[in-house]
Amino acid sequence: MATYKEEAIVLRAYDLGEADRILSLITAGRGLRRAVAKGIKRTRSKFGGRLEPFTRLHAVLHEGRNLDTVVQAEIVRSHAPLRADFAKFLFGEAMLEMIEKSLHEDQNIPRLFDALCVTLDILEGDVEDPALLLAAFELKVCALIGYHPRLDRCLHCGRKIEGERVCMDLCGGGIACDSCSSSLESRLAVSPENLSLMRSLLNEDMATIAKRGESHRASRDALVTAFRFSESFLDRPLKTRQVVLHYLDSR
Ligand SMILES: [Zn+2]
Repeated sequence: MATYKEEAIVLRAYDLGEADRILSLITAGRGLRRAVAKGIKRTRSKFGGRLEPFTRLHAVLHEGRNLDTVVQAEIVRSHAPLRADFAKFLFGEAMLEMIEKSLHEDQNIPRLFDALCVTLDILEGDVEDPALLLAAFELKVCALIGYHPRLDRCLHCGRKIEGERVCMDLCGGGIACDSCSSSLESRLAVSPENLSLMRSLLNEDMATIAKRGESHRASRDALVTAFRFSESFLDRPLKTRQVVLHYLDSR
């Protein structure tokens, strides 16, 4: 079994016994990996800090049959401010979970790692509306893993859609015009304003989206549509989403 070096972000971490911790990692070159950090909970751990979710690190890992072992870890960015702000933590957690649940073990999409790095850096700074950033992240991740949302033309008749009420065809991966959507089994009504915002979130870069401010309603609608869109191809439910929506509704 080989030893390898990778840049990685901790997606999830949980304790194993008295001293060890299991990490779920997205790596720059090998996709999703699970690894054990032995002795990390001891006071004099060689890792020099707890490897919490959001932590970006340079790691040396030893490949195992089921689980790799962290041999060495140097923290590049701890993203501590994300753990200190409840809203940022929550929206960030939803991003980490989205990455973990949309990849299979060892499936490697290098741009996904880069997208997560950029988005977490932005989320840590000044963000007008973290819900919009999360909605955009969901749509961009869908596109990167091969489910690019088709939002310009009706999926069924090909007609260009502008300024009208449509439906999201949740099995088809895009929008359907009013007349084509009546027979669809799984659909979600989308207002012209929501569609226009979804297009911007898909196409604009994250730094631009971080400066965007929309009404509470518009931003929640975009997030729900993005959630429903990605849920249609993720076969596992995502736990943080309900908490995110509950948080938005409580404000
Ligand atoms: Zn149509």
